[in-house]
Amino acid sequence: MVRITLVEAIPFAVPYRHQPRFASGTVSRADNVLVRVHTDFGLVGQAEAQPRPYTYGETQASIVDTVGGALNDALVGVEPVRSELVAARCASVTGNYVARGAVDLAVWDLIGKLLGVPCHRLLGGFADDVAAAHMVSLGEPEEMVAEAVGVSERLGVKTFKVKVGRTPALDVAAVRAVREALPHADLYVDANRGWSYEDAVRAGDELVEFGVRAIEEPISVDDRAGRLRLAERWAVPLAGDESCISLAHVDRALDEGAVRAVSIKTARTGFTESRRILDLCLARNVAVVVGSQYEGALGAAATVSFAAAFAATAGQPAELTNYLDLADDLVVAGPEIRAGRAVVPTLPGLGLVVDEDRLDHYRLDR
Ligand SMILES: [Mg+2]
Repeated sequence: MVRITLVEAIPFAVPYRHQPRFASGTVSRADNVLVRVHTDFGLVGQAEAQPRPYTYGETQASIVDTVGGALNDALVGVEPVRSELVAARCASVTGNYVARGAVDLAVWDLIGKLLGVPCHRLLGGFADDVAAAHMVSLGEPEEMVAEAVGVSERLGVKTFKVKVGRTPALDVAAVRAVREALPHADLYVDANRGWSYEDAVRAGDELVEFGVRAIEEPISVDDRAGRLRLAERWAVPLAGDESCISLAHVDRALDEGAVRAVSIKTARTGFTESRRILDLCLARNVAVVVGSQYEGALGAAATVSFAAAFAATAGQPAELTNYLDLADDLVVAGPEIRAGRAVVPTLPGLGLVVDEDRLDHYRLDR
């Protein structure tokens, strides 16, 4: 019987080639955490956590503390293949969504390696690739056009999530410019709660006219009445992201009625809770988007593994290209993206190999 002997958290920092900018924050470098789950069998499961203090309250330091402390205590001695026992033990640690999500992914990576099976097959294995969506960071409209056109030309991507949430005039100008440059692109927008209610009305009404197919988190998630009015006003779904960070959050958001599309991020709900969220959305006939929080290649491998695994997610674009915004990465090679589609890794588990020299170079704890 293989048992977990140690859950290790290694903080690291990798620079960006292209810094993510959105209404709730800017990421100047990827101050992430590599999670490693060790066993008495020698195999190691690994995954990556990305701190997003403005969304979850977690920092790089808090993730290191929680993973190496409470989550390590919860899992030492547990058999990794007993994934429901792992999930129950991790659930005893409240909050700390990103820390728990990364540990869940690392245990699934380990299970895959123990069984010699890629994670996307363990989860369901519906497809071997999935269409990739790219998130366009805030910038001057011409910069945003250059980013979208560049990714379209380099990777063949046809779907773009354009960041908005500034003044309505600037947001409308940026989305109009992207629409004119890529007239056939599939577009949706994400305001990251940056608009007031009045700005959301002004910007959102115009953006719907450009054929934007969903509007993600337009205003404060606490303004429930405002969200409901916007959802009733627009012909396109209001998508829930920051309001949908756990199974219980999704359940409440769907009861409230404003959210008609849910962003599922393996970076915060791992595979185990993400699957439960997917099932809840399927039961209620609510659309899902497999989303990204600008993870590196290990995170992107988790995202594509989940998105490709299920019939309900494999048929639509998942946010998969932004790991290429990093100037470097911890892994030998990231998930392959060709002709606009991300391909599932074929090696066991999450299917990526960490380059130990790069890890030594970028880790912050030595
Ligand atoms: Mg979002």
